[in-house]
Amino acid sequence: MTVIKLTNSKTRKKEVFEPIDPNNVRMYVCGPTVYDRAHIGNARPVIVFDVLYRLLRHVYGPEHVTYVRNFTDVDDKINKKAKDTGRSIKEITDETMQWYLDDMRAVGALDPDKMPRATEFIGAMITMIEGLVESGHAYVAEGHVLFSVESYKDYGKLSGRSIDDMIAGARVEIAPYKRNPMDFVLWKPSSDDQPGWDSPWGRGRPGWHIECSAMSYELLGETFDIHGGGNDLMFPHHENEIAQSCCAHPQGGFARYWLHNEMLQVEGKKMSKSLGNFFTVRDLLDGHDGQQPVPGEVIRFVFLSTHYTKPMDWTAEKAAAAESRLDTYIKLMANSADLERAKSLKPLPAIVDALADDLNTHAALQGLNELANHAQWDELAANLVFLGFYTFEDLIERFNNLNEAVASLESWKLKFEREREQAKATKDFSRVDQLRNDLLGVGVEVKIGKEGVQLKPLPSFDADLLKG
Ligand code: AMP
Ligand code: ZN
Repeated sequence: MTVIKLTNSKTRKKEVFEPIDPNNVRMYVCGPTVYDRAHIGNARPVIVFDVLYRLLRHVYGPEHVTYVRNFTDVDDKINKKAKDTGRSIKEITDETMQWYLDDMRAVGALDPDKMPRATEFIGAMITMIEGLVESGHAYVAEGHVLFSVESYKDYGKLSGRSIDDMIAGARVEIAPYKRNPMDFVLWKPSSDDQPGWDSPWGRGRPGWHIECSAMSYELLGETFDIHGGGNDLMFPHHENEIAQSCCAHPQGGFARYWLHNEMLQVEGKKMSKSLGNFFTVRDLLDGHDGQQPVPGEVIRFVFLSTHYTKPMDWTAEKAAAAESRLDTYIKLMANSADLERAKSLKPLPAIVDALADDLNTHAALQGLNELANHAQWDELAANLVFLGFYTFEDLIERFNNLNEAVASLESWKLKFEREREQAKATKDFSRVDQLRNDLLGVGVEVKIGKEGVQLKPLPSFDADLLKG
């Protein structure tokens, strides 16, 4: 069996991955707070953990892996959006969840096996908080329930900080009802215009951290294999998840392997609205601010070029290079690949091994190039599918589009030649010029040389427009 190695943030070491139960490998990844479109940074953990999910499914069998990713659908940012827009919370969260799924599917991410909404697990959160209060790890103060960080001796271990460092370094919310400034909220009171649930501490709503502890416990148990997320979540979110879960279920060990993806930046700078380099996945997919659309597989390719533990830089140049590489693969495969045979092929061992080596996606992409260099088109197709760039249905569609486009270019060439012959006779070239302009409009350049008329598709070539 393939040996998988992963960098475990808990030990800061690359370790051999040994699942608790190879018949049920369990992974939890923190999902989005649903009030707005996902920005491209948000797609990084999705793509990284999708690759890991695909690898686990390959090694242990698809039916032996459970991947859970939550939706945070109770949060003050959502409340604010509802207030600002006059729309209901349900309407906003439903819409945003659907956007998220559409956008993440577009970059090739499989849906996790379970996608719980926080609001469906409020009862489980209340039960967990009650237990923490009973065992002295949490206390009630002014309608709030707070977790006492001093009650958990390993608090700060994941991120490697002491409680004193944290107080000095973090912008902690000082509140009179907190015994220690680092104590964090498990439950807070809701006013009448805020979403709230009845609880032993009055009508209120959960803090953010408790939802992941409660949902992972309900869906994966008190000990499971892998917990993932961006490294901005390591402190305080993951630190707090560990404290809550380990104190609520002292027999369990919570997550055994912690994986964190590094952050994404844009053209060398931290993405921010004020720098004007902030964009959503949908902006890229649809084209924004006069830019060409960037297909989902191109976004995926750029992301996988950088190892998940390294900061990654999104640049237009990388996107263009990735697009041209994928286009080349499609053109070469369209003529020669046998997709029926490709469907029966296993992924290339070198590519699986690259992923198994702490998700060395860069090396996996080199594996694709090797296949192309050796003209192994069926294998290339199979491995592009394995890595999530396309489904076989996508490939069939791409090949058909390309073949159709080539065929239609041929008929336009004949039409152009006819018009040109007529124009030579009548000395009226206006129709020829018009046709040349029209073709240019759909990304086809007309060249007239020694070999006669040639129609050359430009990068902006759009086969659908040509049909019109
Ligand atoms: P949020 O909705 O902000 O909690 O983020 C959802 C996920 O996206 C979390 O796993 C974050 O760690 C991750 N994330 C947010 N910003 C970035 C970024 N710039 N680069 C990579 N991951 C990010
Ligand atoms: Zn979480």
